[in-house]
Amino acid sequence: MKWALIGASTIAGQWMVDAIRSAGDDVVAVVSGSTQRAQAFAHTHQIEHAVSHEHALDALGIDAVYVSNTNDKHEASVLRAATAGQHVLCEKPLAVDLAAAKRMVQACEQAGVVMATNHHLRHNAAHRAMRAHIASQQLGVVSSVRLSHSVYLPKHIQGWRLSDKGAGGGVVLDIAVHNADSLAFLLGEYPTHVCAMTSNTGMAQGMEDNAMSVWRYASGITAFTHQGFNTPFAETHIQIHGDQASLHGTGILTQAPGGTLQLTDASGTRDIALDSDNLYERVVRNMQAAIRGELHANADGAAGLQSLAVAHAVLASATSGHTEAVIYP
Ligand code: NDP
Repeated sequence: MKWALIGASTIAGQWMVDAIRSAGDDVVAVVSGSTQRAQAFAHTHQIEHAVSHEHALDALGIDAVYVSNTNDKHEASVLRAATAGQHVLCEKPLAVDLAAAKRMVQACEQAGVVMATNHHLRHNAAHRAMRAHIASQQLGVVSSVRLSHSVYLPKHIQGWRLSDKGAGGGVVLDIAVHNADSLAFLLGEYPTHVCAMTSNTGMAQGMEDNAMSVWRYASGITAFTHQGFNTPFAETHIQIHGDQASLHGTGILTQAPGGTLQLTDASGTRDIALDSDNLYERVVRNMQAAIRGELHANADGAAGLQSLAVAHAVLASATSGHTEAVIYP
């Protein structure tokens, strides 16, 4: 399959070019708003075509696009790809606002192309093992979750995320969407209500760089989630607590495979073995399966829309000071 990269981004260069190639597909073009950046990216990653406008892709026989420009630009790129009949793997958050994300999902549906959201974390080995343990009732009745996804935003990407609300900056849009998707993957449901507080600890300008929230699910589960850009020494984790056992996943909300998972029950604590599959390669392989019409485990467009709805509810609650219902489009 022939892919084009829409966006000469950090994530494309660090992870997705290799992921697409490892899955057996070709990266034939990169699109950047700057011809110079497109050419430099293409040179570094040995990509044949460097173009400064997406319409140039029409002549290249592109099958699928990977959209990783800034969040405010995702919509236009996805709508164009859908019109061109190209399958879409779009970065999270799908868009800055929900209406745009909804238009993207509808456009792909109407065009009959596959749309996936790059919620790579559900492909982490710990997530897959946790999901299997929950589904097979090994935890008994799950009552609560604690999720900590507070990191230190690396210097080289401390740009628009910390300074440009219009581009979709702020830690909630950046990280809460991942958390919503991870918990949907594990629990099989999205929260109905959220209660949140955010703060600016001096890293971001004019927006939040830290957020804590409690999410309530229809099943009765409550989840505490922490998302931050400002904690160089914090470790990510997900703890899931049931009346028969608890799961403790540590160091698992990451780009690279890794981390540990332990199950604690009445008989003690034991380690659960994890594979080290590349998360992003799994996204691409699942996208290939979806295009073949097979079952797949990716977050699709609708899942990206739902995770964005949760993030917006978190922001709404932090603003209003009240518990907010999550409004799913
Ligand atoms: P970057 O800031 O690296 O790139 C985003 C855009 O910024 C690029 O498309 C590029 O525009 C422009 N840009 C990049 N470098 C420069 C530069 N030196 N000077 C001027 N402009 C530049 O973003 P990220 O890679 O961090 O994130 C891109 C998307 O991917 C976001 O939607 C983000 O949320 C998502 N993401 C997802 C992750 C995941 O694991 N699923 C992880 C990280 C990010 P142009 O294309 O026009 O050249």
